[in-house]
Amino acid sequence: MPRVKKEEQVEKKPRKKAKPIQTVKGMKDILPPEQFIWDYILHNSRKICQDFGFGRIETPILENTDLFKRGVGQATDIVEKEMFSFETQGGDNVTMRPEGTAGVVRSYIENGMSRWSQPVRLYYEGSMFRYDKPQQGRFREFHQFGAEVFGEEGSAIDAQIIYLAWKIFQKLGLRDVSIQINSIGCPTCRNKYKKLLTDYYDMKINKLCVDCKRRLEKNPMRLLDCKEEKCLQVAAGAPQIIDNLCDDCNTHFKSVLEFLDELEIPYVLNPSLVRGLDYYTRTVFEIWADGDEGESRQAALGGGGRYDGLVELLGGEPTPAVGFSFGVERVADKVMKMGLDLEPKVVKDVFLVQLGDMARKKVMKIFDKLVDNNILVGESLGKGSIKSQLRTANKVRAKLALIVGQKEAIDGTVIIRDMDSGMQETVILENIVEDVRRMLKG
Ligand code: AMP
Repeated sequence: MPRVKKEEQVEKKPRKKAKPIQTVKGMKDILPPEQFIWDYILHNSRKICQDFGFGRIETPILENTDLFKRGVGQATDIVEKEMFSFETQGGDNVTMRPEGTAGVVRSYIENGMSRWSQPVRLYYEGSMFRYDKPQQGRFREFHQFGAEVFGEEGSAIDAQIIYLAWKIFQKLGLRDVSIQINSIGCPTCRNKYKKLLTDYYDMKINKLCVDCKRRLEKNPMRLLDCKEEKCLQVAAGAPQIIDNLCDDCNTHFKSVLEFLDELEIPYVLNPSLVRGLDYYTRTVFEIWADGDEGESRQAALGGGGRYDGLVELLGGEPTPAVGFSFGVERVADKVMKMGLDLEPKVVKDVFLVQLGDMARKKVMKIFDKLVDNNILVGESLGKGSIKSQLRTANKVRAKLALIVGQKEAIDGTVIIRDMDSGMQETVILENIVEDVRRMLKG
């Protein structure tokens, strides 16, 4: 019977495992397999924006809280309950941006872009933060790609921004999407309409959900896109803004639609589309994935519109502007479901095979030399056998394997093996780049 050592007789206490720390609620990692999809989306979106003459802008994630209170609007869901706001150690009230437009407008004013040749076309991408209820397609940190045009009030620019959004979705292969479009008028006709709407809803107040009863006073247009069944029924009979636009807004909207017809962009007139941000004027639109209409705002892949009053509201000269953004997570989800094979195939010219510590050191140097000379190199610096390393070389379809064992490491030589024919040749380490080049050509 084998003798049991004394120490082994002592009962081992299970080691206490540290409790893992998880991501903050509503936030997530974007891992390498997803990055291929993100690269595909962002690369194509950037390229289209650049082709349309847009320049990239980056603004800080943190902005003064007042920017969003004033810009996005006090009575919006975002400002009322969704902002990540805090006081800095120096006593400043700051907010992690919940959307991109307000920051870009601040930058337009602060950097004197009204003196640049107009229109100024800018695109951006980055994280946005909203303290929203996390659920499918709704996170507390999410990413937007967006574009803004400043300094043009003509309807052609509204159409162009919609065309840009449409083109990006088409380029990504997302063909089953629709443009939902509406006009919410200018402050003059909208105020008249709001009065009409409030009178209508006042008569139906008992049929509304609690949220809508509360919203009615501050933001009656938001009642139009409430998803509660009973509110939907009331909204169906509500007066429509489109019938109450002033002449200028009416002409502007009609002209936007004519441009879209000309560009053959299919759209759906949606009288209950009002968007959740206060700054919009006239054209508003969203991009919905077909089949998601029931969930609308929740499912919108992107949205935008005209915001002619925002630059002035934030302290700049009156400047018309229009823009749009889409949510990268939601678009990535749709792209993933299309099942495109976006992961680049790993293909190497050369694979480094080594045996022993000394050889491993040599191989690391060879790796560096080859990479510097633009040769695609693979390696496995672990302790696998030569056979298993050669298997990996085959997997990455390397044309050559460079083998360094103990003997080669001492002699300063390398064995080059042609992976197709199995022929081997021993060469001097010093000249490795030239020999590899010669054999790759051969
Ligand atoms: P919005 O500024 O609310 O119109 O949002 C524009 C786009 O950003 C939406 O259409 C979504 O694709 C995306 N988005 C907005 N909120 C979230 C969120 N909480 N999580 C993920 N994506 C979002």
